[in-house]
Amino acid sequence: MLNIVLFGPPGAGKGTQAEKLTNKYNLVHLSTGDIFRANIKGETDLGTLAKSYMDGGNLVPDEVTIKMLEAEVDKNPNAEGFIFDGFPRTTPQAKALEDFMKGKGTTISVMMALDVAEQELIKRLLSRGKDSGRADDANEEVIANRIGVYNNQTAVVADFYNKQNKFQKIDGMGSIDEIFGRLCAAIDAFKVQL
Ligand code: AMP
Repeated sequence: MLNIVLFGPPGAGKGTQAEKLTNKYNLVHLSTGDIFRANIKGETDLGTLAKSYMDGGNLVPDEVTIKMLEAEVDKNPNAEGFIFDGFPRTTPQAKALEDFMKGKGTTISVMMALDVAEQELIKRLLSRGKDSGRADDANEEVIANRIGVYNNQTAVVADFYNKQNKFQKIDGMGSIDEIFGRLCAAIDAFKVQL
């Protein structure tokens, strides 16, 4: 199985690139942010709980997020592989994912981290906020908090994969196609070793 963690701060382009990679490599795309938003739209209990954290740009508690992610993986028993987008965002989430995948006889193949300058992130998020309908993209204070949460709680997850020699930094500046080309080159090089 090819299981990719697509990593990077808010606005790095994870969702856009994950969609493109999903099509090219025949993977299942799991975005925890998208799943939470679908629950908010469907007015589920999980949605109500998640909304209170998401509106402020804070992380939904690990226990809730991990349980939800595992249930989504279990819904795809025939997947050839997964792209995890927006998960794991904390070290406990990374550990839980590792144990969970091990239990299924597989593992995370690689973490690819999109590297984007902070000014560019803010620009992209504000521009997305104009038509995405996402409240957390439209407000500069919430954006600043999301970037702060990333720096304080999430960035450290890269170390978890770096220690296992699974960390790959990818230049996330430039056009969508340029970045996609870099991701594909990294995956193709990696697949040769599989
Ligand atoms: P995203 O769509 O990835 O930008 O996520 C939007 C929001 O959903 C985040 O700001 C968090 O509030 C919540 N969220 C998404 N993924 C996670 C996660 N792995 N852990 C905790 N909260 C998450």
